[in-house]
Amino acid sequence: MKHIPRKRFGQNFLTDQTVLHDIISLIAPKPGDAMVEIGPGLGAMTRLLLESLAQMHVVELDRDLVTRLQKTFSPDRLIIHQGDALTFDFAQIPIPDDQKLRIVGNLPYNISTPLLFHLAQFAPLVQDQHFMLQKEVVERMVAEPGSKAYGRLSVMLQWRYRMGLLLVVPPTAFNPPPQVDSAIVRMIPIEQPLACDAAKLEQVVTTAFSQRRKVLRNCVAGLFAENDLIDAGVDPQVRPETVPLEQFVALANRL
Ligand code: SAM
Repeated sequence: MKHIPRKRFGQNFLTDQTVLHDIISLIAPKPGDAMVEIGPGLGAMTRLLLESLAQMHVVELDRDLVTRLQKTFSPDRLIIHQGDALTFDFAQIPIPDDQKLRIVGNLPYNISTPLLFHLAQFAPLVQDQHFMLQKEVVERMVAEPGSKAYGRLSVMLQWRYRMGLLLVVPPTAFNPPPQVDSAIVRMIPIEQPLACDAAKLEQVVTTAFSQRRKVLRNCVAGLFAENDLIDAGVDPQVRPETVPLEQFVALANRL
């Protein structure tokens, strides 16, 4: 029986074989990689990844799709975790001491931001991540200070990862086609992120970007006096979207 894509699970299945092969080339799977795919769906990427891998893990929420995957792939080669990637403990995946996880996925767009934040806590266990996301979200992830797209997502993720937009993918590559362009992003965890408490950084950044049109001093008035900003080397008169990561970290370390 044909699977009817479920909107609530963000199901837009990749069907364009050229795009699929391009994505696999960018991921460049190697035998022995500890690969995990989030949201394998009908297995379009999974099948191609398994051409290079002896075994891999997948995390899929939709039970009907899990049943299909169980029928399609051998359990020796595909280890299926039925569950929600938003709460999944990626540290439970058994890997040799000298290895790190490679996480990939054409992600459900409706949960992409919380999922990226959930994954950030596993960054020390991760070699790299390759994700298909809305192009606009990838643009925000990689945005530099001074650009319109620069905001909370850019700062919080650039603190932990080096990132690049690798490929733009049009709606026609999917069934059903999404409303917007998509893009593949590569995320490589930074080995030693600038020392800072994640919750404090999040608090400063969220507060700073809550009123983008105001100058920084006014945005963060509830957290810092003007002198605190000056002592941290931050100009109180600038707009939050011009403040680089290092300055947000300096502020978080003063909280
Ligand atoms: N990888 C497939 C492809 O490229 O054709 C499917 C991608 S589709 C955009 C997103 C997939 O993520 C679907 O299979 C959906 O069921 C699954 N999914 C949605 N929410 C999820 C969640 N919270 N945890 C794990 N998988 C989820």
